[in-house]
Amino acid sequence: MNLILLGPPGSGKGTQSEFIVKKYGYCQLSTGDILRQAVANNTSTGIIVKDILAIGKLVGDELIIKIMEEKLSETQSMPGRIFDGFPRTILQAKSLEDLLHRNQMKLDLIIELSVDENILIDRITKRASESSVIREDDSIQVLKKRLDIYNVETKPIIDYYSSHYQLHKIDGMMTVDAVSKKIEVLIDSN
Ligand code: AMP
Repeated sequence: MNLILLGPPGSGKGTQSEFIVKKYGYCQLSTGDILRQAVANNTSTGIIVKDILAIGKLVGDELIIKIMEEKLSETQSMPGRIFDGFPRTILQAKSLEDLLHRNQMKLDLIIELSVDENILIDRITKRASESSVIREDDSIQVLKKRLDIYNVETKPIIDYYSSHYQLHKIDGMMTVDAVSKKIEVLIDSN
């Protein structure tokens, strides 16, 4: 099972990924987590991306695709993969198809979590105040930048998937459990 979770920052992709990992044993491939880990470990990738993450811009497609290529080959034996925060550009979306094809895999399920922008701002402000892990990019200025970038760079993917695949839209403003339930139904019926 190869599942993409699409949605803006704060739409619940991470929370729902956790649910899917627990329930189905799939692995979560979150490019944001991978990049933050690289920064924390001060790897060569971390050094390149640190400032980009801090200002909320997108890391270059080439680097992201290379990271995903490596990660994908490590997960061959897993029952499923959740792509969280990837793809974020049309080029990444097309590269993912190519990568999956080369690994004899296909895209099985594409889910969009939709949440109104004012709710996203509230959620992320809350996440920033409650979390013990400080995310530099959860400040209000950087968040607004990330939302702008989402609207310009990532929203077109939604149109791309709507016209080439079946895109399942879920109201991400429902309770966490209600969203999980909808996702569960989609996975079970796939
Ligand atoms: P996230 O945790 O998914 O919100 O990602 C945090 C930050 O990592 C983003 O604001 C980008 O700077 C970077 N990032 C994560 N995934 C990608 C991606 N697929 N393409 C480009 N940049 C990314």
